[in-house]
Amino acid sequence: MLSKRTYSLRTVCPACERQVPLESVRLTPCFSCPLCGRGIRVRAAYRTTQNVVSYAGAILLPYVAGVRGVLWIALAIPLVVVLAGLQAYFIKYLFPPTLEWCPDDVVRLSIG
Ligand SMILES: [Zn+2]
Repeated sequence: MLSKRTYSLRTVCPACERQVPLESVRLTPCFSCPLCGRGIRVRAAYRTTQNVVSYAGAILLPYVAGVRGVLWIALAIPLVVVLAGLQAYFIKYLFPPTLEWCPDDVVRLSIG
């Protein structure tokens, strides 16, 4: 089965310099390039922004909707997970991240 791949000029592997499909880009601390297998990651600033947006959104959205008290906290906690998931699976297509070496892989290369 052929699946449609989405590419961005920003998601270029720093090792093999080929475009990594957005479907393969993970917002984890490190993942393997599907083309060359080297350890790469999304820039730390992108992940930090993603975390800030998830937490701020989870706190502000129920508040703006008029939710207060214990229910506010009860809604905010699962909402962090929902917003982080939305960003991991949808927002990266709107705002493709820049890729960089995974620090662990750089250390491994300089030793070996
Ligand atoms: Zn690569």
